[in-house]
Amino acid sequence: MDCIFCKITSGELPATFVAESKHAVAFNDIHPRQPVHVLVVPRVHYSDVAELAVSDPEVLADVIQLGVRVSELLSTGSFRLQFNTGVEAGQTVFHAHAHITSTTPRS
Ligand code: AMP
Ligand code: ZN
Repeated sequence: MDCIFCKITSGELPATFVAESKHAVAFNDIHPRQPVHVLVVPRVHYSDVAELAVSDPEVLADVIQLGVRVSELLSTGSFRLQFNTGVEAGQTVFHAHAHITSTTPRS
């Protein structure tokens, strides 16, 4: 399958990793839209969070917990966790992922 996030989670393509867990990895978004902008990506391929939630709730919980950990590592507290789901919502990569964004990075 020609999936860019599968290639990143497997190490075939580079990324700037910031944290990882049993089921997910976290790396900087290549086009950050906030001072903190990290993607949390499950190691297994699901096309979006709806499919992930139905098929593998344990992995979804792990993705969210890793996102919270990333926010604690990189920001001073307030953060957004966003799953774009579907083309009209702005999803461009069809491997489920959470955006963690924050305007208040740790210095
Ligand atoms: P979405 O539009 O919600 O599907 O989010 C996809 C995100 O992946 C965008 O914010 C892109 O900037 C980001 N992205 C695409 N390719 C890469 C890459 N090779 N490394 C890191 N982030 C990427
Ligand atoms: Zn994938």
